[in-house]
Amino acid sequence: MTVVTRFAPSPTGFLHIGGARTALYNWLYAKHTGGKFLLRIEDTDRERSTPEAVDAIFDGLNWLGLTADEEPTFQFARRDRHAEVAQQLLDAGKAYYCYCSPEELTAMREKARAEGRPMKYDGTWRDRDASEAPEGVKPVVRVKAPLEGDGVINDQVQGEVRVGNEQLDDYVILRGDGTPTYMLSVVVDDHDMGVTNVIRGDDHLTNAFRQKVIYDAMGWEVPTFAHIPLIHGPDGAKLSKRHGALGVDAYRDEMGFLPEALNNYLLRLGWGHGDDEVISAEQAIEWFDITDVGKGAARFDFAKLTNLNGIYLRQADDKRLVDEIAPLIAKQIGVDGLDASQKEILINGMAGLKERAKTLIELADSSAFYVTDGVNSVNEKAQSLIDGAPEGLFKELANSLEALDSWTEEDVDASVRAIAEKFELKLGKVAQPLRAVLTGSNSSPGIFEVMIVLGKTQTLKRIRHFDA
Ligand code: GLU
Repeated sequence: MTVVTRFAPSPTGFLHIGGARTALYNWLYAKHTGGKFLLRIEDTDRERSTPEAVDAIFDGLNWLGLTADEEPTFQFARRDRHAEVAQQLLDAGKAYYCYCSPEELTAMREKARAEGRPMKYDGTWRDRDASEAPEGVKPVVRVKAPLEGDGVINDQVQGEVRVGNEQLDDYVILRGDGTPTYMLSVVVDDHDMGVTNVIRGDDHLTNAFRQKVIYDAMGWEVPTFAHIPLIHGPDGAKLSKRHGALGVDAYRDEMGFLPEALNNYLLRLGWGHGDDEVISAEQAIEWFDITDVGKGAARFDFAKLTNLNGIYLRQADDKRLVDEIAPLIAKQIGVDGLDASQKEILINGMAGLKERAKTLIELADSSAFYVTDGVNSVNEKAQSLIDGAPEGLFKELANSLEALDSWTEEDVDASVRAIAEKFELKLGKVAQPLRAVLTGSNSSPGIFEVMIVLGKTQTLKRIRHFDA
């Protein structure tokens, strides 16, 4: 049987980082088994399911490359189908109308509380005839849950989980206004979409037992479940805002991570392949199996993610990186966008730049000096290097460099070394102030590389600016 997995987010305004990992596991499992990965937007909460909130999910998934193999399903649009299944269950005597008033339900709840047990519908209308129904009450529809025995789920991550059926109650599948409940919609959609494997957060494990009641009542095959542990923060508590950003967009826009690095990190959070840290998408597809996902909650480690991102940054194509950072640099230096020649300069400088950055934000910050006309800003340490430079150093450097016929790393290297000798200084004592005037910073790629990438005109202009 072909594996069909799905990711079923409820729009909240962003793609949750934990949701991204759930999507990744579903996607990988489908690819690993040669199956299909589907997407269902659970948009039944009409207040929260704005077009923007739905788009944020697509946006996050597209960025991570976790695209579905078919058009997405929208749950709300299928509400008539959900109600139809409720009707079938009624017709088959597997569900019934319940006319309990709010007061009766409150009494049931209070009784349960007094007895120190969770609220359980007591089955008042399970076997009562509809002729006894009170006037003017719009009934809900409840599914008949089994009264005896155990519900067993062979979960691919949690193992065999058994729950006594006496713990289940006849829960509502259709509200008084005819709208389906979440529990009904999920089961009907998963069945109609042909989902064979439900991979989701372990906060849904108890729902699985309730959902199984509908599958069984309809005579539908129950999918294979895999309930994966939630992501925790570094302190072991469930990941929340106080640990850091929850939306995938912030990992891209505010923190400057690459999608392949985030995927790799999320993959390793709960699954591993020996000691391998850097795992390509192809390797992940080959190696990933949902049964190898651990039961214990993994802790999110921002430093680890950042280091991993640095590794991916160094492997990334230079042009792609420049396209990524160009808008950030443009914003930083106050222009609308970078032109082709500015991008060309950055591409030339990328080899040295990307060795030193771990995120796109750092990369943009450390690259901006290349594309300004003169240096825009000089940091404190650079300023003190400039102030401490020997009298006449910059003038000599500029004159000697200006006299060069060709502009190669060997040429500028020889020229700067000659000046160092003339001033009886170690090369570093010349290179440091030179770096400061060229980049406005005390740290940058190798100084000769910087001079070549900047070009002769811009190099001389920057040195001359300080040669007074
Ligand atoms: N919509 C649910 C959520 O966002 C997921 C339901 C499911 O995967 O079955 O938590």
